[in-house]
Amino acid sequence: MRIEKSERVKKLPPYLFKEIDRKKEEVRARGVDIIDLGVGDPDIPTPEHIINALKRASEDPANHQYPSYTGMADFNEAVARWYKKRFGVTLDPGREVVTLIGSKEGIAHLPLAFINPGDIALVPSPAYPVYDIGTQFAGGTSYFMDLLKENDFLPDISSIPSEVAKKAKLMFLNYPNNPTSAVASRDFFESVVEFAEKYNIIVCHDAAYSEMAFDGHKPLSFLEIDGAKSVGIEFHSLSKTYNMTGWRIGFAVGHPEVIGGLGQIKSNIDSGAFQVVQIAGIEALEGDQSCVEEMCRIYAERRDILVEGLKKIGLAVEPPRATFYLWIEAPKGYTSAEFTAHLLTKAGIVTTPGNGFGSAGEGYIRIALTVDKERIKEAVERIQAVGY
Ligand SMILES: *Cc1c(COP(=O)(O)O)cnc(C)c1O
Repeated sequence: MRIEKSERVKKLPPYLFKEIDRKKEEVRARGVDIIDLGVGDPDIPTPEHIINALKRASEDPANHQYPSYTGMADFNEAVARWYKKRFGVTLDPGREVVTLIGSKEGIAHLPLAFINPGDIALVPSPAYPVYDIGTQFAGGTSYFMDLLKENDFLPDISSIPSEVAKKAKLMFLNYPNNPTSAVASRDFFESVVEFAEKYNIIVCHDAAYSEMAFDGHKPLSFLEIDGAKSVGIEFHSLSKTYNMTGWRIGFAVGHPEVIGGLGQIKSNIDSGAFQVVQIAGIEALEGDQSCVEEMCRIYAERRDILVEGLKKIGLAVEPPRATFYLWIEAPKGYTSAEFTAHLLTKAGIVTTPGNGFGSAGEGYIRIALTVDKERIKEAVERIQAVGY
């Protein structure tokens, strides 16, 4: 028989990391010891008290059955308490919190609840690819808001044409930002609330990196802004904060009707997050938080080594205030892909080409601080040795 894929799959953008994956295999096959600064996946293990909570919860047969698709009441209450403590934001755990099987799941599903074919979503470029793909899967179209250095990698909302804004149903934002590592100011978020109210746009703020910040910087929750809960929601994840990427647990909070819409989609697609993981998640949110401080200390140390090292060899780089990414301009004469290929084939270092996150990422590469400091030092030495 003839297998024909759907138009939505056929329309998926080409996988921009294919070439780098192929080269990586080639270099590995040559016997090169590769330093992988490509993927944004923490190398530090999940803290032990969280693993122990999972072990204990797994012994209870009550946790082996289908969970609630919107999350255990206990987990959603822990989320509400965490929001109060961390951001001073009050949430109704019954109506304003939904548990997710990782925030990627919620981000990908949300457009199904609010986007009709032909509707527009405002999506940053460069960005985490799921905002655009989720929009496309729902039949919508993304209008890309470029994140430029001269605007501190914040979208210039005033440049969005009013006919686009009128057709827009959703706006995705992500601060601290992957891949640029930029952070958002209160002023910026206030202007977003005003814009969203004016054009009736649901704001979806992805705060996956809110706890990964350095030098005393405390990232804001979008929901701290006056009026924000009437225009939007915030996605959150335990993945980066507690080194739990493999566990698949996150949540969305905010406007009850938006949370409810996402819950309706989920009730028809998945059956919720494993209760054992939710119970471990409660331990993560409410247990000893010194693991978060320790994580930030480790990344800050790596960041400083890399920033210093790259500066010495002439690469312009500002130390990021948050996230475990460095967003670096490729040196003169190199495109993103060319510089990434150079670092890989000559120095055995994997980085990510900025254009893989959207056309406005061209000219940049992203380096993830996901190897220990000795390997980071070695990466700097290798780049110095091969030059550019
Ligand atoms: C890592 C990351 C997430 C978290 O994804 P999970 O599905 O919760 O693991 C969300 N948004 C961005 C921008 C990320 O980089």
